[in-house]
Amino acid sequence: MIYLDNAATTKMFDGCVKVYGYYACEEYFNPSSMNRYSLKVAKDLEEVRKRIVSKLGHTKGTIIFTSGATESNNLAIMGSKRNGKWEYVFSVGEHPSVYNVAKELEMQGNIIHFVGLQPNGQIDYQELREVLNEKTRLISIMHVSNETGAINDLKLICDIKKQFAPNSLLHVDGVQAFCKIPFELKNYDVDFYTISAHKFHGPKGVGGLYVKNINSLKSIVYGGGQELNLRSGTENVPGIMAMDYAIQHIDINKNFEKVNELKEKFSSILKSDANVNIFESASPYILTIGFNGVNGETLMRALQDKDIVVGTGSACSTKKAGNRVLENIGMNKEEIKTHIRISFNADLTLQEIEKAGKIILQVYNDIREKIN
Ligand code: PMP
Repeated sequence: MIYLDNAATTKMFDGCVKVYGYYACEEYFNPSSMNRYSLKVAKDLEEVRKRIVSKLGHTKGTIIFTSGATESNNLAIMGSKRNGKWEYVFSVGEHPSVYNVAKELEMQGNIIHFVGLQPNGQIDYQELREVLNEKTRLISIMHVSNETGAINDLKLICDIKKQFAPNSLLHVDGVQAFCKIPFELKNYDVDFYTISAHKFHGPKGVGGLYVKNINSLKSIVYGGGQELNLRSGTENVPGIMAMDYAIQHIDINKNFEKVNELKEKFSSILKSDANVNIFESASPYILTIGFNGVNGETLMRALQDKDIVVGTGSACSTKKAGNRVLENIGMNKEEIKTHIRISFNADLTLQEIEKAGKIILQVYNDIREKIN
């Protein structure tokens, strides 16, 4: 099988499974208990927090461990909400774990602004300038789009925030960026940054929220006060330690170069067919591709029979978030339906990519012939 849906999830590293097993069956102690075995586990978690902050390229702040990005996004948004006449700003390109929280805030009577997208998939920075003011409490904008692979300019967003919304906090959903795109968080004035382990070869159901200043956040889950009083519940120690293994074993720069090479090769094969439209994304990990005259979902199913797995996040249903994103970069409904999403990982080989590219073109043309 050639798996090209790595933005949905990745295969766990073998080493993560070993670490998971070790902390599940050997060092299985509750980090909040007072026995010396538990204290050792608690110390291990503290070290992981520091290592993640350092991998993010920061020296300040900490990590709150969560059950994944959906929870981290909910915590950042709902946890920074304050009573009174505050306003909240999101982009229309956000993942449902941000977008639907924004909708909930709106239902609760808060003032919400949605900033649109440019044709290149990045947010519309001018619109951002226009909606910000001194009452803005939170800006939540993703780093890399899971739909298009567009990379938002964090530096510019921070500059705009400083100028137009001096009292605001900035949350960034970094799920498709962390451990993939080289960056140093210390270069940006980001208050909260979301990560999810299963997008970088760690386990599912574990992630974190980077928090620059814990006083800017309130808990949304009440209980025993674990996680610096910001997220109660016994920590998923095996999951966190396995996530740490993945983080330690990823060479971001090396992988970035390799995946770029894969993407270039793949694009050049697909571009040989004039009926294929490639959305030029900035992240090498994600490619959104339109196949004129063919439904993306039909293509995805036909490719499955050839053992090639691709994503259709954007294509299948009008209810899906993908439509919202592609619509906002200027595609019409018919065009959107023709799209599939290809997402790479650094373990793929050039041979696999060449093979997949050729099969995709073949299957596409077979479907077109049948239709016509
Ligand atoms: N944000 C983005 C940008 C994502 O791509 C995803 C996963 N599709 C999520 C959030 C949700 O991640 P999780 O599965 O860890 O809840």
